[in-house]
Amino acid sequence: MEIEYQEMMEVMAHRLAGEPCVICGAPSDGMGVFVPDNPEEYGAAAGKCRFIFYQICDKCRAPGTKALETVEAILMQEFTQTTMN
Ligand SMILES: [Zn+2]
Repeated sequence: MEIEYQEMMEVMAHRLAGEPCVICGAPSDGMGVFVPDNPEEYGAAAGKCRFIFYQICDKCRAPGTKALETVEAILMQEFTQTTMN
């Protein structure tokens, strides 16, 4: 289980390499992962969990910026837009 998680992180890091910061669009400094409390709203099958990966810059993830809340709002909007259409 732990190895699978690590492999998944490596695959996603590779896939997201070069993507801009999800919040401000600047060149990103690293990857983050968001695990929603309500994965079904993000397209997961019932009872399955879902990991959503994103790129973020140091400025946006600095302490006190509420990065997680901002990212959550952005991702929620993206996912609801794609599933509604
Ligand atoms: Zn940023």
